[in-house]
Amino acid sequence: MPPKNKNNHEDERCSFCGKTRAQVQDMFDGPGGNVRICDQCIALCNIMMIGQNLAGLDENNAANFQAQAPEQMQAEPQIQVAAPAKKTSKFSNFNGVTKPKELSGYLDQYVIGQDVAKKVVSVAVYNHYQRIKNNLDLKNLDVELQKSNVLLLGPTGSGKTLIAQSLAKKLNVPFAIADATTLTEAGYVGDDVENVLVRLLQAADGDIKAAERGIIYIDEIDKISRKSESTSITRDVSGEGVQQALLKIIEGTISNIPPKGGRKHPQQEVVQINTENILFICGGAFDGLEPIVARRELKKSLGFGSELNKKSGNYEILSKVQPEDLVTYGFIPELVGRIPVLVALEELDKDAFIKILQEPKNALVKQYKKILSLEGVQLDFTPEALDRIAELAVAKKTGARGLRSIMENLMIDIEYELPSMPDKDKNGKKLLITPDFVNDKNIPLKDLLQ
Ligand code: ADP
Repeated sequence: MPPKNKNNHEDERCSFCGKTRAQVQDMFDGPGGNVRICDQCIALCNIMMIGQNLAGLDENNAANFQAQAPEQMQAEPQIQVAAPAKKTSKFSNFNGVTKPKELSGYLDQYVIGQDVAKKVVSVAVYNHYQRIKNNLDLKNLDVELQKSNVLLLGPTGSGKTLIAQSLAKKLNVPFAIADATTLTEAGYVGDDVENVLVRLLQAADGDIKAAERGIIYIDEIDKISRKSESTSITRDVSGEGVQQALLKIIEGTISNIPPKGGRKHPQQEVVQINTENILFICGGAFDGLEPIVARRELKKSLGFGSELNKKSGNYEILSKVQPEDLVTYGFIPELVGRIPVLVALEELDKDAFIKILQEPKNALVKQYKKILSLEGVQLDFTPEALDRIAELAVAKKTGARGLRSIMENLMIDIEYELPSMPDKDKNGKKLLITPDFVNDKNIPLKDLLQ
């Protein structure tokens, strides 16, 4: 934005609406000082860009604007809603509902531990798709069936995203991830909340029907609480605006979105997405929530008979979380009300890490074994080596997320050297990863091969 002209001349007029400086709050000069625009016209332009009508603003201003604006700006700022393309995609044959036990059994193949979370989420997801399948009109039921959006509370790297992602895979529905810390209300610098829907539509290969029953995972939702210290200055100050914007799509709305993303502008076609049946799974570490839950629990039991005591771990405390605790934490009650399923995830320990290295379908050890088998080499890890890797991951404090970087760092030289090694030196050989190698990966490759 060009600098504001400090030499105020009261009779200078906005080049778009014709108002004088005295009639508006702010006026900005263009290059050379011959053209200028007032704050009200800037607001109008913004509204045009986000595709709303001129109605509702100062009518006078709007009329003047229409009369005097350059031709290309006079066009009615109408959003053109594209007729829904009869698009089918790999998600088209959604054939209904997977039972909770089957869902949870599927999750077992990928997610180690977190048994309570797997069970609760499986039931919530089952209910959600059961409701869609039966096409229940929520408003016309005597019993109101709430949408079962889910909030996962647990430390980083404990499997929150993995659970949401695996569910979407099993159900064959489109899946999109958004990081709440980058979300903004429309008009602020950052990612409009509606862009999450754009991402979902893209994940659905443009198939609107499929997107409308997809799953959106919103990570780091705790960071948009009113009290969050990490609230960005480019966003609204309180985080509440983002909560409001999220609330709108979570509670169900018809959203006009530009299919290719970006800011909306008047000439761009938009498609309409009904968010009513989209399942929202939110996740966050919720640092600082434990004392809130503990205080309320203790108050409830007047200090006696509470299941919590001073030795209760974070998981035990968080698994007692109630909606009111989230309100105290800084969420607007309306948003909390729309995410009724609350479930805590445990912090993973060394034993869990050892299992994660080996057991899931896509376990890192399995993957590296496969890669090296393509070089004719049989890879193995001693139990002590796996133990050591798990210890390193515990020290990193990034949950199971740390395992990948430790393994990558460990294996990179081997993966680099092995393909160039003559076949006779490697074919049919065993490569054993020992704790010594984990501690000092400078051991030459030929010494590892047996
Ligand atoms: P977050 O809880 O921060 O969302 P993620 O689900 O993204 O954590 O986990 C990061 C990675 O760590 C996953 O891709 C997966 O490889 C691994 N991981 C985390 N938790 C588990 C778990 N419970 N079981 C198996 N792997 C896990």
